[in-house]
Amino acid sequence: MDGKRIGVDLGGTVIKMGIVEAGRVLKAAAFDTPVSEGYEAVLGEIAKGVGKLLAYCPEVNCIGMGVPGLIDSRKGMVCYSNNFGWQNVPFVEDMEKKLSVRVRIANDAQCAALGEALYGAGRGYGRMAMFTIGTGVGGGFVRDGILENDRYGSMAYIFGHEAVEGKGRLCNCGRQGCLEAYASAEAVKKRSVSLYETPQSAKEIFEKARGGDAGAQRLVDELLEYLSIGAVNISNILRPEVIVIGGGVSASADLILPRLQEELKKGVYGYEYAPVAAVCAELKNQAGTVGAAYL
Ligand SMILES: [Zn+2]
Repeated sequence: MDGKRIGVDLGGTVIKMGIVEAGRVLKAAAFDTPVSEGYEAVLGEIAKGVGKLLAYCPEVNCIGMGVPGLIDSRKGMVCYSNNFGWQNVPFVEDMEKKLSVRVRIANDAQCAALGEALYGAGRGYGRMAMFTIGTGVGGGFVRDGILENDRYGSMAYIFGHEAVEGKGRLCNCGRQGCLEAYASAEAVKKRSVSLYETPQSAKEIFEKARGGDAGAQRLVDELLEYLSIGAVNISNILRPEVIVIGGGVSASADLILPRLQEELKKGVYGYEYAPVAAVCAELKNQAGTVGAAYL
């Protein structure tokens, strides 16, 4: 795993990338994502940034990229990306035409999980599950430092769309009762209009809860209730040794982890024989870049 690598974390608003060595981002760059200008413009922006980074480490011959959506890593296809409105695009083939290096892709949350497993909060654990709680809820599972990255593996571990309510809220995916419809920053923001005149961001709700606001605390409790159901389900199926909570909401880990840990203890089958630890992500917003670099 020695030597310099380049990772790209493609987001709906920002493209992050960096030169990574031994899990550390040595040189980082970020650009606005030109989503509205279309597929070619986004690829052009990535190629421009990568080209500049390659000038610093010409020995790099393969670059990993994390892309939000359903990915077929083996074929290098983005099958569907809600953030970009892309469907069945040959991302790797098109990207390689613009660059002089090989390209690998995986789902962005899975990249973040790989980054945390190798160099962050999942270090030293054999089985790690990660929930990234941002606008949506992403998931990833890493075993012995390896991300399952074949056609089916790259479409697995979609934790945000496990059902936590049988006939619950409508999710962006068109199904009902998904975890994402309850435990994402967007879900908290939507729920906040029932309490406040203007929508409040999840960050604002967590701050208000910390300040003793009872309404905000109810919204935080609701998020925790459903996140716990989701995490217990995943634990009973995949039995990670550790669950890492990442994404923007992880900045409020002090309000999340104690309750989550308590619920895991109560809900996970046979917890006393094989406990599941709940911890906060360590690489913050660099997890995706670092993980992508190790694809
Ligand atoms: Zn869904």
